[in-house]
This record gives sequence, C-alpha cells and structure tokens, in this order.
Amino acid sequence: MIFFRTRSGGEPSSLKIRSHVRWFLINMNQQEKIDKLLELSKLAYSQNEVPISCLITYQNKIIATSYNQIEKHNSCFEHAEIIALKKAYEKLNTKNLNDCEIYISLEPCLMCLGAIINSHIKKIYFLCLDNKKGAFSYYNIQPSIDNLEIHYIENKETKELLTNFFKTLRK
Ligand SMILES: [Zn+2]
Repeated sequence: MIFFRTRSGGEPSSLKIRSHVRWFLINMNQQEKIDKLLELSKLAYSQNEVPISCLITYQNKIIATSYNQIEKHNSCFEHAEIIALKKAYEKLNTKNLNDCEIYISLEPCLMCLGAIINSHIKKIYFLCLDNKKGAFSYYNIQPSIDNLEIHYIENKETKELLTNFFKTLRK
C-alpha cells in the first residue's frame, strides 16, 4: 500500500501509515478528475445529500460517475462508490474491474473498501480523510493485496464542502 499526498497542506494527523507517504505532484489529467469529483459533490450538496462523489476510469476514460444518494433512497448502501461500481459493471459488462481506477472525494468506509477490493480495482485515489468512518485513518485497515495502490491526494476544497455541509445542517 502506498499513500501519496500533495505538497500543499500539512501532514494529516490521523494518517498512521507515515512510512508509506510519498511526495506527489498532481498532473493535469488528474486535476480534471478532481474537478469532476468537485462538480459531482456540489450536485450532491444541492440535493441535500452529504457531498461525496466518485468516478471510475477505464483506459483513462471516465466510465462511471456518481454521488452519495443515501437520503434519496433512504438506504445506507447508496454510497457514491457502490453506485459507481454498479454503473461500471453494467458499462463494461463484467464483474472484474481490474483495469479500472477509482477516484473518490472522501476516504472509503469499510463497506465501500470491501466492494472495491471485491471488484479487483487496483488503484484507489481519494481526496479527503474521514476520521470518523474511514477504513484507513479510523479503522487502520492496511490491505495486503498484491498491486493494490491507495493514493491520498489532499484537496482542501472537498474538505471545505463537507465542513460547510455539516455546519449548515447543525444550524
Ligand atoms: Zn462507503
């Protein structure tokens, strides 16, 4: 497992796996995916859903996009990752997504990490740590799976969106 982070921002205090942290500069291609995630998170926000989004790429093309829809469906299964995985299965007509990469605005929970691992996706990118439900930073899961790469790319805008959402909710 390898964690990357951007040069901006400090060391995340909850990240326990410091020895795996590497410096990493975002290339433009990745910036486009990050921008898309932000757009999807804002869409979730506008529908009173917790602003969490996900996209899946195949051969560097986006094949599935989604955002959290827990409120809409009254179901704790409707996380952005699960919805995106279902769309990717349909699109590629397969249950093995080993040539795909998944980008998530927030660190995956245990359920979604399990689903991602079962899909055989080998590259996970996420933009924000989840200190309450995150599989890595809260539950300290360190999957020992061959070739599985987990990249944390810190993105302040994503975090701010979540913070604002919960602030507004408390009012
Ligand atoms: Zn989840």
